Amino acid sequence: MKILIINCGSSSLKYRLMNIETEEAIADGLVERIGLDASRLVQKVNGEKYIVDAEIKDHNDAINEVIKALTDKTHGVIEDMTEITAVGHRVVHGGEKYNESVLIDESVIDYLTEISNLAPLHNPANIIGIKSCQKHMPNVPMVAVFDTAFHQTLKPESFIYAIDYNLYKNNKIRKYGFHGTSHKYVSNKLAEVLGKDLKDLKIVSCHLGNGASLAAIKDGKSMDTTMGFTPLAGVPMGTRCGNIDPSIIPFLITDCGYKMEEVSDILNKKSGVLGISGVSSDFRDIEEAAENGNERAKLALDIFHYRIRAEIGALIANMGGVDAIIFTAGVGENSPETREECLKGFEFLGLELDKEKNKVRGKIAEITTEESKVKAFVIPTNEELMIAKDTKKLI
Ligand code: AMP
Repeated sequence: MKILIINCGSSSLKYRLMNIETEEAIADGLVERIGLDASRLVQKVNGEKYIVDAEIKDHNDAINEVIKALTDKTHGVIEDMTEITAVGHRVVHGGEKYNESVLIDESVIDYLTEISNLAPLHNPANIIGIKSCQKHMPNVPMVAVFDTAFHQTLKPESFIYAIDYNLYKNNKIRKYGFHGTSHKYVSNKLAEVLGKDLKDLKIVSCHLGNGASLAAIKDGKSMDTTMGFTPLAGVPMGTRCGNIDPSIIPFLITDCGYKMEEVSDILNKKSGVLGISGVSSDFRDIEEAAENGNERAKLALDIFHYRIRAEIGALIANMGGVDAIIFTAGVGENSPETREECLKGFEFLGLELDKEKNKVRGKIAEITTEESKVKAFVIPTNEELMIAKDTKKLI
């Protein structure tokens, strides 16, 4: 059974054609710079790249290019789209309605359109992606897998902000949380690795990539997470600020003379470790600069680690303990330094890092000693597989 996974970002589209029986990718692709100049599609099959430079004005054009590339006589992997059994769409925001993945029908599209203002950069692109696929594959079932769904188990004391309650009731302003597909995948994987029931584990999952969020998972359910109303909240990230005093925003406007769009740009694109270091948003560059004595790069890393430690502590306290801490995504999977720094301070819980085992990159590994009372693991995330599995289940 072949499942196509579509992930429409604001100006990009990632896709994977997957054989669900073997869980292997038949083709992987990325459409970049949608709506900009020099847009292109890059498709990888067995490590070989097929690059198409084309004018790609919007996500409709992007889907057209994806279909052409998948069915291309020389570089394609299928004869035509009837070989595809189902399509799984990653959708950023499922609002308060969806606490799990859903088979897409008109009512789903209507609801996603209604809540588009909650994810203005992403949900409109997701909707275009869905509609365009439906046009090309009218008889193929489609499933929406939401970034927010896993966190719909949060309790009101965790998801309600301490502002006028009417803003929640009337304007849907609350914590939603993101990266749910990743947190769900790695926590399930951990239970599998430990040979335990997920319901018997208390887990802190640290998804540390360009975007970063942590989640507390108890009884198999997300009970808290660091991102909030939007993916700007929580720990500092590559370019995003994470939690700051909200008064900084009016101050930037009234005292520093910035316009609202500029403030949004600063907080989303010019903050985080890029803003502090002035070097890069890429952790490899920052680690290298810090090693070469760049003080601001070192400060950026110190702040990143400090804030993650603080969040891990808070999540553990509200869970009443922890069995295991997971590291995943680009930084979490590949940076032993980050993992070591983030785990410092938890020795009082009986956590004992094994520095040799922690040298691992990009594969499943336990990184604490045999005696460690709290375990820590590296578990590479696989959101595409999670989307494919949910899609198969629902069709
Ligand atoms: P993601 O958003 O999950 O793709 O993660 C992207 C981030 O992972 C980038 O900031 C990269 O710098 C970071 N990353 C990838 N490899 C490494 C590495 N070996 N050491 C530190 N950071 C890494």
